[in-house]
Amino acid sequence: MADNDMDKKSATCPDCSSSQSDLCVCEGGNPPVLVVEMSETSSIGSVEILALPERKKERNGSKEVPTKELEFYIFGKVLGQGSFGMVIEATDKETGMKRAIKKVNKEKAGSSAVKLLEREVNILKSVKHEHIIHLEQVFETPKKMYLVMELCEDGELKAVLDKKGHFSENETRLIIQSLASAIAYLHNKDIVHRDLKLENIMVKSSFIDDNGEMNLNIKVSDFGLAVKKHGSRSEGMMQTTCGTPIYMAPEVINAHDYSQQCDIWSIGVMMYLLLCGEPPFMANSEEKLFEQIRKGELRFEDAIWGSVSDSAKNVLRQLIKVDPAHRITAKELLDNHWLTGNVLSSVRPANVLEMMKEWKNNPESDEESKIETTKQPYKGKSKSNQFKGKVLDVNNSQTTNMEKQSTPAAKKADAVDNDTSGSNSAATSSEVKREAEKSTGTASQGAVSKSTLKSSSQVRGKKKP
Ligand code: ADP
Repeated sequence: MADNDMDKKSATCPDCSSSQSDLCVCEGGNPPVLVVEMSETSSIGSVEILALPERKKERNGSKEVPTKELEFYIFGKVLGQGSFGMVIEATDKETGMKRAIKKVNKEKAGSSAVKLLEREVNILKSVKHEHIIHLEQVFETPKKMYLVMELCEDGELKAVLDKKGHFSENETRLIIQSLASAIAYLHNKDIVHRDLKLENIMVKSSFIDDNGEMNLNIKVSDFGLAVKKHGSRSEGMMQTTCGTPIYMAPEVINAHDYSQQCDIWSIGVMMYLLLCGEPPFMANSEEKLFEQIRKGELRFEDAIWGSVSDSAKNVLRQLIKVDPAHRITAKELLDNHWLTGNVLSSVRPANVLEMMKEWKNNPESDEESKIETTKQPYKGKSKSNQFKGKVLDVNNSQTTNMEKQSTPAAKKADAVDNDTSGSNSAATSSEVKREAEKSTGTASQGAVSKSTLKSSSQVRGKKKP
């Protein structure tokens, strides 16, 4: 979140006229160089590594010194303080377009953090999706790195929720639709976000529709812990325990092999939070919190749940399923009838393993096609976000890698070193699962061994030997 104190910093830079040394871009004679410019028109995933665009060279007045790119921005308020540096609002003097510029002091951040940032940049360069934050340009000097991103004027989704108390079912559906679309896109490209939480979902814009419901244009951001898997199934498993405790999937806290399905669990936690304003799992110690997560028992006792449809609750049960192999995949979620609004479709489990389980228990069920109706969305008065302050630190939304770390940057940076994407860990999925995946081609994203859940006493945050 934005740190308002930062707005007040006003020490003058000794090397230029900027009255705000924190925001100045002169770098004492080492002005930033454009490293990459993301092409607005490029096809998905393609990036142009450019020499400076002509227009900017001319604007700079000299072809010999193709720098000082950031002088073409008017810097505004500080939007927030991240693990590696601050994010500042900036306006392109020529186009008037507003941007968010993340300024990172490479020296202060350290080499692991820079490595992590480079990985974040590489991932962001390879994606283009309407609900994923767009990285416009990257500038670099020997000391600093500047990430020019699209601006999300309405801030973090977490802040909107805190203000509103909770969202209606329809409002939640719209958010989850956008989120599912972004995550299905990422998973299809073998990218796992690993730190999905309301603080990392930015709101670009919003409006109230004719029904009085809030429509949010959301963007998935902060790819600091994201990884690109190398290979599918067991070759693409990860083992680093990282993320944010209340959003963490059981297989992640168990530091077992896990795959992109950890993102789906986090979507479930977000959906639960959006609908009732409280996280599904809360405790006053980390141990108890993890115990609850491992059980994965959802409670719908609060009065607010009386106004939420069974379809929505079913989606939550499919998202927050302890066994990642039985958890719905992003692609399956996109087709889910609650999400699509197609209430006439079957309510059979979307996940193929769940479908097989149901068929085994009740062979007749395949013949049936139950129809569910969606209840009216909750129209009650918003209540305040109760989980704030009511629970202890263990439920906070700070990203962690479960190691004792001194700074958020160090926590994130450690995840680079522990990252096991591309490891050849020997995950063993059962033959039944493999056959099921082969036959449908949809469940492979969830191909995590059931054995991943058998033990809770794993070494956390480290690769398995
Ligand atoms: P962190 O490193 O902690 O993950 P970031 O450096 O990505 O966080 O961002 C720090 C803060 O700046 C965020 O919490 C958010 O409030 C704000 N912010 C980041 N990106 C944007 C953006 N594109 N538009 C508006 N605000 C942003």
